[in-house]
Order: sequence, then structure tokens, then C-alpha cells
Amino acid sequence: MRKKVIAGNWKMYNAPSKAVSFVNQIKDKIDTDKSDVVLCVPYISLQPVMDALKGTRVSVGAQNMHYKDEGAVTGEISGAMLKEMGVPYVIIGHSERRAGFNETDTGVNLKTIKALSLGLKPIVCVGESLKQRKEGITNDLLRRQTTIALYGISNGDAEKIIIAYEPIWAIGTGMAATSADAEEACATIRETVAGIYDRETADAIRILYGGSVTADNAPELFAQPNVDGGLVGGASLKPDFERVVNFDGK
Ligand code: PEP
Repeated sequence: MRKKVIAGNWKMYNAPSKAVSFVNQIKDKIDTDKSDVVLCVPYISLQPVMDALKGTRVSVGAQNMHYKDEGAVTGEISGAMLKEMGVPYVIIGHSERRAGFNETDTGVNLKTIKALSLGLKPIVCVGESLKQRKEGITNDLLRRQTTIALYGISNGDAEKIIIAYEPIWAIGTGMAATSADAEEACATIRETVAGIYDRETADAIRILYGGSVTADNAPELFAQPNVDGGLVGGASLKPDFERVVNFDGK
């Protein structure tokens, strides 16, 4: 039985003071028994949010990392730096980074390998554009993105990765995928993992859906057999996030 993961992606919102007051508002209402809950926050809010979450089982993650430990790379933060801070999770290859910062599938692979070698838990994002969906190449694209992201990674390490299926057209648009489309895409990713490794690895890896998840659509999306939770943007910035996390109403 895979434990669900609900990861909030705050994007470039919530500097430290706002971040801490938000966390203090929701932290005691979050159920971490049935889901691993992660808040992926801006770098400068990581330490304040970690401090505010002490005594809870809610984790934090970064939204990106550099694959080198250090170097003359102005403006970047390395996985090694996150590791030193005690940050457990990191999002890799979010479509906003692929689109806005020229991140490639091979770059995603390098970062994923590095994150695993440091003991960080990568949340690797894949997903198609609206054009690609209309062209009927969604499943091919997901197979390709997944295969490249996992290249050179052992099955023992692959199980530690969380893959987030995030159709680009659903992110921040209010137009979530149907539960059937989310299930089909997550199943395609799982079968790709089975093809690269084996059934055991495919059954162990957690695959999330992301794209306009709300407290209202989360129960149906997260009930799909191959959907192991969600990567949640806009709704993770609102007190309602507690309802997304406690999605079965308990
Ligand atoms: C995201 O940021 O990964 C995301 C899915 O955003 P939203 O939930 O706002 O669509």
C-alpha cells in the first residue's frame, strides 16, 4: 500500500513573515497519518517554515536545485546546500522552470541523480502541453520524459522518487484534468517504470497528479488507483489547503 503524498508548491509566494503566519494557521489541522505532507516553499522561507513546523510531521521542500555542489553559478542553490539545511524534499523539472528557465529532460535527470545521491527526495515533474495533448502524443511524451528522468538510476533509488504528472494546460488555469485522464496518465507513467525496472519498483513508486487541484476535486482525483496524491499550487496558499490534505473528509 503506497502512502499518499500531498505536496504544496508555493511558487514565488510567501516570504518568511507571511509564510510563518500561514503555517501557524494550518499546521495543527493537517492529518499526516494517511499522507506525507510537504510544503515546497521559496528558498528564503525554508528555515523559518522548518522552525514553525517543529513538532509536526509536515515536511518542507525546495522548488529547484542545482546539480553541482558549489561553483561560480550566480543565483543558484545546490542540492548539497539544501541537504546541509536539512531540507528533505526538492521539486525537479517543474514546467514553469522548463518553460521559463530552459530546463531540459537531461538536466532533470542530472538533478534527480544528484538529489538521490545526497539523500534528498526528488519530486520530478512531467506533463504535456495542450498542443501535445491535442496532437495525441501525451502518452509518448510521458514515456519519454519519465525514461530520461530515470536514466542511470537503480531500482532501489527509483522507488524513492516521487513523480508528479502535471499537464501544463491544467496548471494555474482552474481547468483540472478529469480523474479519468489523470488516472490514464499516471498509469502510463507507472507502466513506463515497470518497463524500465520491474513490477515491484512500479508498484512502490508514488505518482502524483498536479494541475488546479482544489479541496472539491481532490477526493475524486486522489481516489484513482494510480494517483498517489497531488502536487498543489494555488490551493496550497490558502487555508483551504487543510481540506485538500484531509481529502477524505476525516
Ligand atoms: C503547480 O504549481 O505545480 C500547480 C499544479 O499549480 P496549480 O495547483 O495552481 O494548478
